[in-house]
Amino acid sequence: MAYTTLSDIDKIYRSQVQNKSAIKHSTSEKRIGWIKTLLRRINSEEKAIEKALYQDFHKSGIETIITEVLSVQMELKHIAKHLKSWMKDKRVGRSLMMPNVNGYLHYEPKGNALIITPWNYPFQLPIVHLASAIAAGNTVILKLSEFSPYSNQLISKIISDLFPKDHIAVVEGAVEETTHLLGLKFDHIHFTGSPKVGKIVMEAASKNLTDITLELGGKSPAVIDKNVNLKQVVKNLIWAKFVNAGQTCIAPDYILAHRHQKHQIEELFRKELEEAFGSDPLNSPDYARIINESQFERLKEGLESAKNLGAVIISGGRLDAKLNYIEPTVITNVAATNPLMTDEIFGPILPIVYYSQNQEAIDFINSKEKPLALYIFSKDSNFSKHIIRHTSAGSTCINDAMIQIMHPNLPFGGINNSGIGQSMGKFGFKSFSHERAVADVKIMPVSSMFWFPYTEKTNKMIQ
Ligand code: NAD
Repeated sequence: MAYTTLSDIDKIYRSQVQNKSAIKHSTSEKRIGWIKTLLRRINSEEKAIEKALYQDFHKSGIETIITEVLSVQMELKHIAKHLKSWMKDKRVGRSLMMPNVNGYLHYEPKGNALIITPWNYPFQLPIVHLASAIAAGNTVILKLSEFSPYSNQLISKIISDLFPKDHIAVVEGAVEETTHLLGLKFDHIHFTGSPKVGKIVMEAASKNLTDITLELGGKSPAVIDKNVNLKQVVKNLIWAKFVNAGQTCIAPDYILAHRHQKHQIEELFRKELEEAFGSDPLNSPDYARIINESQFERLKEGLESAKNLGAVIISGGRLDAKLNYIEPTVITNVAATNPLMTDEIFGPILPIVYYSQNQEAIDFINSKEKPLALYIFSKDSNFSKHIIRHTSAGSTCINDAMIQIMHPNLPFGGINNSGIGQSMGKFGFKSFSHERAVADVKIMPVSSMFWFPYTEKTNKMIQ
């Protein structure tokens, strides 16, 4: 599909700036109507979504429904159900110091929003963030990743069928088009992607002091305690790591397992991976491919250099460059300086690092940037609490992986290098809104107490 021209981007932008006041004043009924229209259309496009994701990723229909469609449907239903109450002014507690003042929070739409998305969940991510922006009463330019053309084509068609461009418009393009967009003055920029590009977005936003949400990535560890049902843990980790062929921002990036589990965990990974994908996962209908050649080459180089430096493959390790295929791979003894241990893996390679003392695992996590997610597997709540207290992460899930993103009342987001701000549900609505403080003075304004000239009486009042 052709990229949007820069002059078309300018035209869309100008029209949205003109229209933002009208959208800002939309009622909750109107916005809920937009969300429901979008939901109905998505419900009727399930087969087309499955087809697009298969074309972009070789992703199975069922996996597409689980990870791209259901999550979108749940989010849109949740917004439609709660938006009216989220939009209402929220009274804050009265202050004894200011008995004459009613304080409340008023949710004001930011105005015109720019949303930039990556390729790895090319249907789900654009739509959930778009839904938050619609709910909050913004106009939106939605800039999709250049690496998921089939999903983009479908989203563009859905959006242009349902919304006028001066309300919501899809922009297709790569670095040039995004750079052009980042030169325009928006009221909010919501970016999902790598920390490297996140810094470019933040720098561009600073020129206009534009508010931002950054949903980034990082190395999300999974720490396994000594006393767990290891078979269940391995199954959880296999699903979370190898769904979408590991191209998930909150996928477990590496495992920290207790040294005494070494033999059993390695045996279990071999056995359970074979049960999940067969003896040759290339033939599994449930296993996706790497999105493109450049991502494939990056992962291949990481794997080869790890092997050259003495890493041991526990399971997997086969590749096919023609198909951008990398077998689900579990590996250990990876050198600390290898890209697999220094950079986010974002593919189907799972290193295991063994620890002896809990503090070793904690120190290992804290030696890296704060991760987007941290997983803990333990039967002992003291162990989980200890890990939580002594580390930092965007989110944590105990005794499972990745399901924290599905909880409708939890925010989604990172911290520092893994992100700034929060998304999804009420938190997404708040990101695209300005929470405006209003102090409504009922009687006796402050000027009547502290009127000039200051006297002994004024002095007594402030004692
Ligand atoms: P990316 O940062 O390369 O690209 C993201 C977007 O930025 C794309 O739309 C792209 O066109 C644009 N872009 C790329 N380079 C640019 C530049 N120099 N200037 C301006 N715009 C530019 O990320 P990606 O490869 O598409 O996605 C993978 C990353 O996204 C991983 O780090 C992953 O963890 C992260 N991610 C995070 C979340 C989350 O919710 N936190 C979700 C999915 C992916």
